Amino acid sequence: MIKKIIAFTAIVVALVACSTVSMTGRKQLNLVSESEILSASLSEYQSYMKTAKVSTDANATAIVKNVAQRIAAAAEAYLTVTGQTADLQNYAWEFNLTQDKDLNAFCMPGGKIVVYSGMLNLIGNGPDRDDELAAVIGHEVGHAIAKHGNERASQQMLASMGGSVLGAVVSGASAQTQQIVAAAYGMGTQYGALLPFSRKHELEADYIGIVLATIAGYDADAAITLWQKMEAASGGANPAPFMSTHPSSTKRISELQKSIPKVKAEFGNVSQPAASSEPATTTKKSTKTSTKSTGFKIG
Ligand SMILES: [Zn+2]
Repeated sequence: MIKKIIAFTAIVVALVACSTVSMTGRKQLNLVSESEILSASLSEYQSYMKTAKVSTDANATAIVKNVAQRIAAAAEAYLTVTGQTADLQNYAWEFNLTQDKDLNAFCMPGGKIVVYSGMLNLIGNGPDRDDELAAVIGHEVGHAIAKHGNERASQQMLASMGGSVLGAVVSGASAQTQQIVAAAYGMGTQYGALLPFSRKHELEADYIGIVLATIAGYDADAAITLWQKMEAASGGANPAPFMSTHPSSTKRISELQKSIPKVKAEFGNVSQPAASSEPATTTKKSTKTSTKSTGFKIG
């Protein structure tokens, strides 16, 4: 009987919850509804922004916003041509530069992008500045559009709830779900210090990042110089939060070197989408225009 229940649960969970990361074709488990993910992560983001020091450097902030807008527009174009228009409505982009010496950046579900000044300082002001920044932001947006947070929350939910997971899936929002979502994002105690993603998620975000950077018109090769800088800056016992996950820089760089020529060939001739503007908090969605004409093919 128990076996039957487990089998039934597994089937229903599979039906309800299995989705595919469209850019890579990988199957993933998403047990938590998008609305729960969005509301939990929005409240964590708002708490972070209350305590964070927003940069007062207007020039540096403009640099970050410009690149982030173009990556956001590329993500919207990508979601549009792949038919993920239902996801599009979940994005209300916000772009921030905060004063923090850590080498870090993140993009919350729903498009809340934060770059730390430490990351911008590391990148510096060379000719590849915007391309390297696009690699960082593309990577973070990659985690968001591939729903890695939902997948991690789902795995934790499955582990902690076991057989009662079906009830959780069906019943929707609950205090327990909210807690698990917050824990999955590593939030609550240390705002912005997101838990490391898995190696698989990191490499997938690297890949999506170079796709988005390429669609946005940046040079994807900068992902390699970025990782070299990161490695040089944070070798030793205290890796930067941004890179404190399993894949070594060497592994990431070798994967990127394999992917970049293919990504450039496939996505490099795309007419650039218009920059997605950061909406005022009252506007729901900004750019649905100009994305239809981008005739790029998603492989
Ligand atoms: Zn990452």
